[in-house]
Amino acid sequence: MLGLIDIGANLTHPELYNQLDRIVNNLRAENIEKVIITSSNVSDTHTALKIIDLYPNLFYTTVGFHPHNAKDFSSVALEEINDLLSKDNGIDRIVAIGECGLDFYREYSTKEQQKYCFIEQLKLASTLSKPIFLHERLAHKDFVDILKSYIDSIQNSVVHCFTGTKEELKVYLDMGCYIGITGWISDLNRGKHLHNLIKYIPEDRLMIETDSPYLIPHNIPFEHNGINEPSFLKFVAQSISECLNKDINVIKELTNKNTKRFFSI
Ligand SMILES: [Zn+2]
Repeated sequence: MLGLIDIGANLTHPELYNQLDRIVNNLRAENIEKVIITSSNVSDTHTALKIIDLYPNLFYTTVGFHPHNAKDFSSVALEEINDLLSKDNGIDRIVAIGECGLDFYREYSTKEQQKYCFIEQLKLASTLSKPIFLHERLAHKDFVDILKSYIDSIQNSVVHCFTGTKEELKVYLDMGCYIGITGWISDLNRGKHLHNLIKYIPEDRLMIETDSPYLIPHNIPFEHNGINEPSFLKFVAQSISECLNKDINVIKELTNKNTKRFFSI
């Protein structure tokens, strides 16, 4: 039986990393088949590789710089990313470049730093034929202006944690992007607009993620401590299945296939 695949979990975050055994037991109990660990900088990737070596074939990771960390990005960092990717060649634990993009909601790095960091990673993805894991928050116009110059030479791209409008969704789909949906959809305050939008995502472009330890689903029927983890991915799938009026096993099967095709895993 196919399991769910979480395309984005921040397992290097201390809330999750410090209780990895429990997290792994929980996700196995819920038949989560694989988890892509999101890296937000190079040090995350080193930690993620340690996790992967403990649990091969369960975890994969990305390598890149989150826009929040763009202020620390440099040509040295780019070399490190290149090194990690070339050492991983043939082992294939690093399955995408990212997460990268623009975040003008919290400007932890300046817009100029974010743009430079984003462009350098797009250039890398276009020369290495690696998928790219994209983050965009309140930066749609600048993000698309930059992305459109590289998108045709990039193998696969996913806009992770999509929370935007119908028009923004259409732009991403027209560019060929896959769309990652999180527990945001189960939040009736912030995510209700996604209930209508989700039907416009073609079945072969939809993937799901927890973005744990953040964004805990709002439809969890039991007491919890507010810390999201990959075993809660089924609640994201459940929200989507209710919005689309489809059986949860249909959502499981199509997102599983899309994810394996996208990341070549
Ligand atoms: Zn993100």
